[in-house]
Amino acid sequence: MYGLLSLSQQNYWVLNLVESAMNTFFNVIFRTSFTYCFVVLISVFSSYISASEIEKQFNLSEIADGNFLHTGVHVSIEDKRHDDIANIGFIIGENCVAVIDTGGSITIGTKLLESIRSKTDKPICYVINTHIHFDHILGNKAFNKEQPKFVGHYQLAEAVEQNKSFFLENYKNDLGLNPDENSIIGPDILVEKTIQLDLGERNLTLMPFPTSHSYNDLIVIDNITKTLWAGDLIFRQRIPSLTGSLKGWLKTMDDLSKLDVKKVIPGHGAVADTFMQAIEQQQKYFLMLLEETRNSIEKGAFINDAIETIDTGNSFNWLLHEQQHAGNVSKAYTELEWE
Ligand SMILES: [Zn+2]
Repeated sequence: MYGLLSLSQQNYWVLNLVESAMNTFFNVIFRTSFTYCFVVLISVFSSYISASEIEKQFNLSEIADGNFLHTGVHVSIEDKRHDDIANIGFIIGENCVAVIDTGGSITIGTKLLESIRSKTDKPICYVINTHIHFDHILGNKAFNKEQPKFVGHYQLAEAVEQNKSFFLENYKNDLGLNPDENSIIGPDILVEKTIQLDLGERNLTLMPFPTSHSYNDLIVIDNITKTLWAGDLIFRQRIPSLTGSLKGWLKTMDDLSKLDVKKVIPGHGAVADTFMQAIEQQQKYFLMLLEETRNSIEKGAFINDAIETIDTGNSFNWLLHEQQHAGNVSKAYTELEWE
C-alpha cells in the first residue's frame, strides 16, 4: 500500500518527520535552558536567603556604615543562653575586617564569623577584646584559623592567664570539645596608650582605661562614622556589673564624655544616638550608689545593712537588678569604706 503513496503524500510525511524532530530539538533546548535558568535563579535566591537568614537569625544590624552589631540577650548568667548576652560585632575596611568581642562561647564566635562571611570575603586582620569577661572573649577560638592579630588592653594578657582555670571550670561547655588551656585565646597586641589600627581607608582608635568596669577596659572608635564601641564601660537596660572600681568608672565616664562620638554601642543594651543618652541611666545609678554607700558608711552601717537598704526597690528600672545590685553595693562599700 505504501508503494502506492503519491509524491505529495511522501513529502507530507517527510515534512511531518522534520517538524516533529525540530519540535523535539527545541523542546529539549528550551527545557534544558529553562532548567538551567531555574537552577541559577534558585541558587542566587537561596544564597540571598542564607545571607539575610544569617543576618536575621543572628540578630545582626548595620548600625553605622560598615559597622555591624550583634545585640546580646538580657538573660542571667545561669540561663542556657548566657553565652550570648554581650553586644559584639565587626567593622569592614577597604582591606580587612576588625572584630570587636567574640561572645561567650566558641558557638557564638562561629556564628559571628559566619555572619562576617555573609557580608565580606576580606581577611580578618584584628580581633579586639574590650576586656576579660567571659561573655566578650570565649568566642576567640573560632577566629584562630583566620589568623588575625588578637588585640587587648595592656593588662589583658595577664588577666587571660589568671582566668584560664576559672573559665575551664565554669564555662567548660562553651569551649568546644575537650577544652583545655589552648581553647582560651589571649592578645598578641597589647594596647598601653591610644593607638590607631588601619583597616584600609578606615582607621580605628583604640584607647585603654584605668580600672573601671574591670582592670582591662578598652574602647574602639570607628573614626569615619564616629561610632564608639564602649564595651562594658557602658551598660543600658541591663544593670551594670561593678567588678572594678566605682570611682574609677565614674572618672572614665567623664573622660569618655569628652570624646567626639555620635553613635554609642554599649557592652549590653541598645545602641544610643548620643553619648548623653548612652550614659544617662548608668551615671545616675552610680552617683546614687556613691552617695548612698558613703552615707551608710558614715552612719556606721555594716555592709549587710547597706545591701538591705540601698535602692532595693530598683528605682532605675534595671533589668536583672535582683541578680546584680547587691553585689554592686557590696563592691562599692568595700571600695569606699577606706576613703
Ligand atoms: Zn559583658
